[in-house]
Amino acid sequence: MILNLRRLKLYPRQSEQFPISTEGNDQLLAELGGKFVRPIEGEVELENTGSMFTGRGWLRTGVMLPCSRCLQEKVFPIVADFDLVLVERGRSSAVNSDQDITVFDGDEADIESEIQQAIFMALPICPLCSGDCLGLCPVCGQDRNVQPCCCEEDEMDPRLAKLKDLL
Ligand SMILES: [Zn+2]
Ligand SMILES: [Zn+2]
Repeated sequence: MILNLRRLKLYPRQSEQFPISTEGNDQLLAELGGKFVRPIEGEVELENTGSMFTGRGWLRTGVMLPCSRCLQEKVFPIVADFDLVLVERGRSSAVNSDQDITVFDGDEADIESEIQQAIFMALPICPLCSGDCLGLCPVCGQDRNVQPCCCEEDEMDPRLAKLKDLL
């Protein structure tokens, strides 16, 4: 996703809004066994501070992820906020070195990796098909949301087993 800053560059202290529309990178979700089901859309508003362009953006998309308990796939809406600091190459001395900056050349700033990173950070850590998902039986593998099984769970958490003895 390329932002064209040609116009905003001419107007220090002014802001400009840029629509965002790009495809999600499925490789981001490969390790989680997921994929994007909608494009990434959003908006970023940038201010020309005179020495750089700073701003905030928001993004939304949808991803298909397997439930972390039962592996059933479900679509999760993802909403993310992100901050941007864009600095033209050669002017980065104006910037505090511990700021997270994106350097660009000419009039065009590529913020694709910032977008993908913001989406990645907003993914659910523990996606669940529902808050009370029963998960798979650790003994027979049956999805206990679909049908309960009759397995005895011998391999109980040792802390729980101790608690059960006490009760
Ligand atoms: Zn589930
Ligand atoms: Zn079972």
